[in-house]
Amino acid sequence: MEVEEEVFKLIKSRKKGILQNELWKKAEIDRRKCSRIVDKLEKEGKIVREHEATGGTRTYRIRVAEIKEKAKARNFKLLLVRDMFAPCTGCTVECTPELCIPLSAWVFNLIEEE
Ligand code: SF4
Repeated sequence: MEVEEEVFKLIKSRKKGILQNELWKKAEIDRRKCSRIVDKLEKEGKIVREHEATGGTRTYRIRVAEIKEKAKARNFKLLLVRDMFAPCTGCTVECTPELCIPLSAWVFNLIEEE
């Protein structure tokens, strides 16, 4: 667990991400262990990986997922249906979505818009 946190900290410390073939060296762990940790972080949605070639070697650039998510969030069309903003955005109510009136209204608007 500690090693995983260290790897994640290393990834977070790089604004533009870090190459996987650099990450395991910086983290001072072997390549396979690094790969397992990166797979786990990716499955947990904490990071994203994109193919990149450097010096004839194929590897991945690894970034914290938030950076990519922020870019997606700029497209507010995904959250707007007619004049209604997605009700779950920022909602802090403990809920049962099947019984939520604002969510139902938003989904009906979404269906009608299509
Ligand atoms: S389903 Fe309703 S109560 Fe639950 S998060 Fe969405 S808007 Fe909030």
